[in-house]
Amino acid sequence: MQKEIEIAILPERIEDDQYILQQGIKALKVQPQQVKGYKIRKRSIDARSKQVVYRARVIYYIDELPVPEIYENNFKSVKDGKPVIIIGAGPAGLFAAIRCIERGLKPIVIERGKKVQDRRRDLAKLNREGIVNPESNYCFGEGGAGTYSDGKLYTRSNKRGDVDKVLRLFVSHGATTDILVNARPHIGTNKLPNIIEAMRESVLEFGGEFHFDQRVDDILESFGQVRGVKLANGEEIKADHVIVATGHSARDIFELFHRNNWLIEAKAFALGVRIEHPQAIIDQAQYHCQVRSEHLPPAYYSLVEQVNDRGVFSFCMCPGGVIAPCATDLDEIVVNGWSPSKRNNPHANSGTVIQINLEDVANAHKDPFALLNFQKEIERKAFAVGGG
Ligand SMILES: Cc1cc2nc3c(=O)[nH]c(=O)nc-3n(C[C@H](O)[C@H](O)[C@H](O)COP(=O)(O)OP(=O)(O)OC[C@H]3O[C@@H](n4cnc5c(N)ncnc54)[C@H](O)[C@@H]3O)c2cc1C
Repeated sequence: MQKEIEIAILPERIEDDQYILQQGIKALKVQPQQVKGYKIRKRSIDARSKQVVYRARVIYYIDELPVPEIYENNFKSVKDGKPVIIIGAGPAGLFAAIRCIERGLKPIVIERGKKVQDRRRDLAKLNREGIVNPESNYCFGEGGAGTYSDGKLYTRSNKRGDVDKVLRLFVSHGATTDILVNARPHIGTNKLPNIIEAMRESVLEFGGEFHFDQRVDDILESFGQVRGVKLANGEEIKADHVIVATGHSARDIFELFHRNNWLIEAKAFALGVRIEHPQAIIDQAQYHCQVRSEHLPPAYYSLVEQVNDRGVFSFCMCPGGVIAPCATDLDEIVVNGWSPSKRNNPHANSGTVIQINLEDVANAHKDPFALLNFQKEIERKAFAVGGG
């Protein structure tokens, strides 16, 4: 029999098997020898009162042994499957490739940037010298904008399909099983590249293809039917299905759609600044202490405020993190944040943003580029104000 209950665990006892077993025995009123094991299903930190605790949902195995979990994918070869071109090897493109394999289709992924490990050199140059390579940067390259950018895996939305399946797929490619349990799962910038590489290997092993350093400049079409894509080097790749997974930074793709008379429209977005604090200030405020216990992770916060009927909120909060330059063009500045898996940098940062609606920018209802141009203008001004 399995019984799931919620228990409170002191931070210093979170790894203590005997203590967690005892808590279950006490709560379930069973004999100690009856409890054969336990599994934490979800855990979160409760810092509402002075004594900070973990709240954990724990499954206890009573008179039965826990079965070890296996994280494997039952993919079959799609070498001879119908080809589907996927433009972009970011999270959307990679997951589309894996979904194709699950459906027996052959994914052909085309990525303008470099392989994940080769991106490192361009990022180092960007951080050291401030020089942006427009084809290989924090946003462009294998793994997309998410790869050298943290890997916080939680969503505020609960209407986004099977989140657990996504997390298990990461585990089957090398992420720790902690991400299945923690309320705020996080992989960390230092670990993500290996996981992305393993995902690529899966796609290749089962018959998919990857083409790096290849930018798609056009989508081929005749009689209203997609026929394939044209690359920047003039080469054409044919397929009757194309998935556009180029993310929000590929402005040239929006222009391509507009040129080809395919409908695009302006969309509201959030704009703001990154705020940075010493991590210790956040720890003190959240954990009610002078110095954070070694058993607690660097603290997190979330901020929501209404100002003149408009929401201002924190976004992508990075405990123990770093602010990264994420521009894709030479004369623009835009930043984002990330943390390594240990979140052990001295500063916390988060985006603090406000919703920008179509009504805020002249002509946005008519011109699909009005908001993009507004964004661009601000990024250019930031570059100028920052001294270039
Ligand atoms: C520093 C930073 C930190 C972030 N942290 C997090 C986080 O912790 N958690 C989270 O959920 N989100 C985070 N994000 C946001 C997240 O990265 C994006 O939401 C996500 O990457 C979007 O995925 P995508 O696949 O749609 O697009 P992208 O990741 O943008 O991928 C698009 C890919 O398409 C390629 N491409 C574009 N145009 C072409 C073309 N014409 N031809 C061929 N290839 C092309 C690009 O090179 C890119 O690799 C962060 C972003 C940044 C920049």
